[in-house]
Amino acid sequence: MIAEHLQAVQQTIPSDVKLVAVSKMNNAERILEVYHAGHKVFGENRVQELLPKYEALTKDIEWHLIGHLQTNKVKYIAPFVSLIQSVDSYKLLIEINKEAQKNNRIIDVLLQFHVAKEETKFGFSLSEVQEMLKNGISDYKNIRIIGIMGMASNVDSEQQIRKEFQALKSIFDTLKKNYFPNDTNFKELSMGMSSDYQIAIEEGATIVRVGSKIFK
Ligand SMILES: *Cc1c(COP(=O)(O)O)cnc(C)c1O
Repeated sequence: MIAEHLQAVQQTIPSDVKLVAVSKMNNAERILEVYHAGHKVFGENRVQELLPKYEALTKDIEWHLIGHLQTNKVKYIAPFVSLIQSVDSYKLLIEINKEAQKNNRIIDVLLQFHVAKEETKFGFSLSEVQEMLKNGISDYKNIRIIGIMGMASNVDSEQQIRKEFQALKSIFDTLKKNYFPNDTNFKELSMGMSSDYQIAIEEGATIVRVGSKIFK
């Protein structure tokens, strides 16, 4: 059944857009159903939930961390995480670099931006990131910033959601132009969830994070 939901979602996503199956609150057995249907990229928003699933499951799964990450938890995921989508502070970026170095690897990250109306959502503002990048992050050799991530407000208004995705795209374009013009790695715009990923794709998403529509 889950396999059919996965297929239904896949059919609505262009092949150049990456689908992250958000598996939070679903157990290893349900994740395996999706895996056996041919999908290997999963997202979790809590380290405590990700670790036991990582331990239990096959190691060719690509795990993305998509929720707020505390600096003291970075060390647990640094050995294996494929992409940390939710980097929302300079302090966290430094910590990820440090733990990546200890593990002798380079960890890909996205900078999370706050564009939604809800105060509860985490993320940088554009001016904070510009300040950070102006001061230079080239000393941090064990992280690779490959793009940005964001969430739209949880509202019914398609117009409002579209406006927020356009704001994210505009932030992406600004950063690309000013700080990563020749960096081919900086290309990802992660936005859109079950309720709004089609709008996100129309507005330029390269990664969508879909949970409940697959694991329903
Ligand atoms: C839960 C979650 C998703 C997926 O949400 P669905 O509505 O279940 O598709 C996407 N992104 C983040 C950051 C999440 O926490």
